[in-house]
Amino acid sequence: MQTIQNAIGGKLVTSTSPRTQPVFNPATGEATATLPLSSVDEVNAAVAAARKALPGWAATTPMKRARVMFKFKELLEKHADELAELISREHGKVHDDALGELARGIDCVDFACGVPQLLKGEFSRNVGPNIDSYSDRQPLGVVAGITPFNFPAMVPMWMYPLAIACGNTFVLKPSERDPSAPMFAWQLLMDAGLPDGVLNVVHGDKEAVDTILDHPDIKAVSFVGSTPIAEYVYRRGTQAGKRVQALGGAKNHMIVLPDADMDQAADALMGAGYGSAGERCMAISVAVPVGDKTADALIARLKPRVEALKIGPATDKDAQMGPIVSKAQRDKIVGYIDAGVEAGAELVVDGRGFKLQGYENGFFVGGTLFDHVKPDMKIYREEIFGPVLSVVRAQSYQDAVDLIHGHEYANGTAIFTRDGDAARDFADKIEVGMVGINVPIPVPVAYHSFGGWKRSIFGDHGIYGPEGVHFYTRLKTVTTRWPAGIKSGAEFSFPSQK
Ligand code: NAD
Repeated sequence: MQTIQNAIGGKLVTSTSPRTQPVFNPATGEATATLPLSSVDEVNAAVAAARKALPGWAATTPMKRARVMFKFKELLEKHADELAELISREHGKVHDDALGELARGIDCVDFACGVPQLLKGEFSRNVGPNIDSYSDRQPLGVVAGITPFNFPAMVPMWMYPLAIACGNTFVLKPSERDPSAPMFAWQLLMDAGLPDGVLNVVHGDKEAVDTILDHPDIKAVSFVGSTPIAEYVYRRGTQAGKRVQALGGAKNHMIVLPDADMDQAADALMGAGYGSAGERCMAISVAVPVGDKTADALIARLKPRVEALKIGPATDKDAQMGPIVSKAQRDKIVGYIDAGVEAGAELVVDGRGFKLQGYENGFFVGGTLFDHVKPDMKIYREEIFGPVLSVVRAQSYQDAVDLIHGHEYANGTAIFTRDGDAARDFADKIEVGMVGINVPIPVPVAYHSFGGWKRSIFGDHGIYGPEGVHFYTRLKTVTTRWPAGIKSGAEFSFPSQK
């Protein structure tokens, strides 16, 4: 069985940690690789390599750094199918979905290619007599990223391409569950000409994460994962004096107003609720039809669609949804469905018994649909992260908005309607970070920035895009004057235009 290696100082290194865990193919349930859970010393070695590479890389011109990113982008495109296969093999998502994730990751590399322009500062002549001033953004130093399982290629690419392009060096700690795609991408970036030690990858669990959070040489940490861990990472990292952005979990609602095109709304809910088996932080997990007539019309369209979902391994080109990432996550989802039934929600489509011939040991759950879910139910309050869509009926538009405002998470949301006034009001007033108007998964493009509100994010910066540039750099302002412009004599009053 393959052993996953770390990448430290430009070399693949076999971990000597006695602690390991298996990586699974979720479609078959087979263990395909052994993952080291790196020791403190191994994480320290990665940080030391990043620190060693820093002065040379920070002094490399932005144009040359951009050229490495251009080459990386080219290689990612060339090897997209191989990368998508690796993503699918360890995550379970279907091939086209894996290609979609990769494309959105490549968009972030594309954005990073513009770094000479992004780092361009501001200059003001004559801010005072014979005095000029300029501001620019400089790299932070060694920065780190800790990423979740659900986008093993894209989420790391939300972080390291831009961080590196800005002149930082990087330590990535990917998810334990699907480490092969980030390793393949690391190799491509090395092939693109990245100097040794600029990007290092260490695999591990809490021990590796804590080492990163406490390490005095790491200046900033980007984290994406579940809310309890995001909050922990934020607190521990900021306590150690680091800049931290920690993006957490979600419960995304989609309001359906009575005037919406019901077929469009149902199709949107299928893709947003069941795509990637619901394992997306921007998945819609709650549909909120306004009025019972709307709800009945929506359920009538959703039920046959959910029953007809084509579920299979990524190798099945017709499959619309793959397995769940792990057995533990599968069992957790089944536990939530049990809890929904017990709490009295109406189970319209039950995915618990789903079995696929030839893949009996795979971690599959069928598409599941609940109606009459109430806001106090556990299946409503908590993030299930599986192919389970809950319908919460609202009696008015305002009830639907109040429902969303009552939830602790505020990552994404959407409204389906033809009513421009309602849509504008929603976009204006809803207290959620990313909003879709007749767009069910409003993930911002790479030249905007991604980020939820409330307990879906900890920290002040969104990730990637312009916010990413700010996160990975710090502002310096230089004020200059030359001897010919200096009047003789000391000046004791505070410098002003007086
Ligand atoms: P997770 O929180 O279990 O793991 C994320 C990372 O944290 C992994 O690298 C993991 O090794 C590490 N980690 C786990 N437990 C830890 C601990 N006790 N101490 C320190 N580090 C620990 O998340 P996951 O299951 O991999 O991913 C799914 C979650 O990520 C969902 O909640 C989803 O909503 C969220 N997510 C959020 C976004 C976003 O942008 N807001 C994007 C993708 C995923």
